[in-house]
Amino acid sequence: MDARPQHGDGTRVVRAGLPEPEQGTAFLPGPVFAAPFHLRGDVEGSRWGYSRYGNPTWERYEAALSELEGGEVVLFASGMAAAAALLLTSLRPGSAVAIDQDCYLNVRRLARTHLEPRGVEVRLAPHGELLDALQGAELLWLESPSNPKLDVYDVAALAEAARSAGALSVVDNTTAGPLNQKVLDLGADFALTSATKHLSGHADLMLGYVATRDAERAAALRDWRRDAGAVPGPFETWLAHRSLPTLALRLERAGANALALAERLSAREDVSGVRYPGLPGDLGHEIARRQMSGFGSVIAFDLGSRERAERFLAGAELVTEATSFGGVHTTAERRLRWGGDDVPEGFIRLSAGCEETADLVADVERALDAP
Ligand code: PLP
Repeated sequence: MDARPQHGDGTRVVRAGLPEPEQGTAFLPGPVFAAPFHLRGDVEGSRWGYSRYGNPTWERYEAALSELEGGEVVLFASGMAAAAALLLTSLRPGSAVAIDQDCYLNVRRLARTHLEPRGVEVRLAPHGELLDALQGAELLWLESPSNPKLDVYDVAALAEAARSAGALSVVDNTTAGPLNQKVLDLGADFALTSATKHLSGHADLMLGYVATRDAERAAALRDWRRDAGAVPGPFETWLAHRSLPTLALRLERAGANALALAERLSAREDVSGVRYPGLPGDLGHEIARRQMSGFGSVIAFDLGSRERAERFLAGAELVTEATSFGGVHTTAERRLRWGGDDVPEGFIRLSAGCEETADLVADVERALDAP
């Protein structure tokens, strides 16, 4: 029996995926920049031959993520590359997928534009109709907390419903990430995460991955990556691994900032619809408390009109107007500028960063109070 203590995630991220210590070597070896590797003679049994097939830098980062997810991890060039791999390896002409219509808009678009014309039945359903949509489907796709509305869904119950209906379940875990929510432990067959967000955390690269406990499905995803060429770059992968040891610290500060902002915004009469799963009283708080160990950095609120939302974004000094979330810098955007989401004109999605809480709250209040 292994007598070593079970460490917490905040400890594990510090050394996750690092090689065994060896005299005179770096803790985290640098990225391996290679297209072909030296490869003489028979290719059978040789570990590295061509970087579309595999690269030691990916393998190290995948090993690190596997420790956190509790399953095999297959890394891709972006979250959407991971989503495409998962949809296209799981579905065939004639099969059906049930997708919660509250999911990330580009996943919905991907399914509509690229699956439907290839004979896959795409059933986009409001959450309440998801169980009906699941009947006869091969795959259930959901997201919790959802982006951008931050609704929280009972992952264990939905994964179980999918299993009973004979379907596999995918949970897009991007807004929470593997430290705040372990979706494989909750029963999902696949966890999908855009590592562009918290995992890498510095707003400077794109990556994504799928985690699963099914070795055959993981192999199918690796084959897809090789054949479709949806490969991550070694430098991006190394940078993400380089950022992993601070993940728990970043999440702790960003989560505290998000909660402080959500509390302040809820107390204001000129702000409505404040959503944050960590806010006691939030519609999703009770489920979130059961299935999440932290509530993340993203909050949402409504400033009532496009004009006021734009004024707020222009006036805040510590809130950078940008899309995406999960970085060390606080960012926000008026979500409807992209179209495609069922949110009001003045709806803001804000991703709290790692600034000092008092400075951030004061800055947001100042921007809201500005005439
Ligand atoms: N899933 C969610 C919930 C997202 O928010 C995003 C990106 O915003 C993605 C998937 C796609 O990730 P990427 O932008 O890395 O392709």
